[in-house]
Amino acid sequence: MPIQKVDKIWMDGRLVDWDDANVHVLTHSLHYGCGVFEGIRAYEAAGGPAVFRLTDHIERLFDSAKVYLIDIPYTVAQVVDAVKETIRANGLSSCYIRPIAFLGYGEMGLNPLPCPVSVAVAVWPWGSYLGEEGLRRGVRLKISSWQRHDPNAVPVAAKGTGMYANSSMAKVEALKAGYDEAVLLSPQGYVSECTGENLFVVKKGRILTPPTSAGALEGITQDAVSTIATDLGFEVAEANLLRTDLYLAEEAFLTGTAAEVVPIRSVDDRVIGDPGPVTRQVQEVFFATVRGEVDRYKDWLEYV
Ligand code: PMP
Repeated sequence: MPIQKVDKIWMDGRLVDWDDANVHVLTHSLHYGCGVFEGIRAYEAAGGPAVFRLTDHIERLFDSAKVYLIDIPYTVAQVVDAVKETIRANGLSSCYIRPIAFLGYGEMGLNPLPCPVSVAVAVWPWGSYLGEEGLRRGVRLKISSWQRHDPNAVPVAAKGTGMYANSSMAKVEALKAGYDEAVLLSPQGYVSECTGENLFVVKKGRILTPPTSAGALEGITQDAVSTIATDLGFEVAEANLLRTDLYLAEEAFLTGTAAEVVPIRSVDDRVIGDPGPVTRQVQEVFFATVRGEVDRYKDWLEYV
């Protein structure tokens, strides 16, 4: 789905025209993948456009930057305001939001520290990442031949731009083989996550999700869904999972800001089936939550 162009992008402290939000070809991050970013969504709620867990996302951006020793020249509050300002400037009632901090050009070479840090925030209208059909009926997954990073090779706790080369290769492999999405295993062979989503399985009535030690990003949707499921009365736990735990799951679903909450139909052609009752319930409460319809979780919404 091509990016839908809007009017303005926030770049280094001011709003610029969409077509002017450009970088130099010698931008350090373009060559060496040393940047950090976020993916956030704003939803149309009764009180106007509301960003889901905006401050949590921006705090994760700053945590990712800390891991990479990227010194963001703004405060969390300033970047939170920049996101709201960009949404307002484009008059959007719902959108996807992409903040990024990257190193510009200054010096060439592997040491990023002398390069200037730039921050940009782009927003655009974006439907569900894995499609409406996937959201309703579920997606077909393939276990990738690519492994998730060893945490001592690339930090998996940080949302660094360069680490997504691994996700992109897994994604292309899965798509070319006729699947919707890939599952990556950790170097130890445990289920880690999908290319841009966390995974959940339902087994004997319990809801299980892989821990960060299996190479999964600490997902904000994963956290929200864990809270929602616990409040619905389910037992939710982090657990190391084997690929057969996916094949034999009673139900399975994935979570992410772009994808939202998506049922899993099959893994490596082992059919899990139509979305089950746990997945449906969690999906329903999640979508009501992001639209501000659930009082209990109203603090997760930050109005524009
Ligand atoms: N894992 C990876 C690798 C991701 O890129 C994302 C998307 N940020 C997620 C999981 C889900 O995280 P969140 O729910 O915070 O969007």
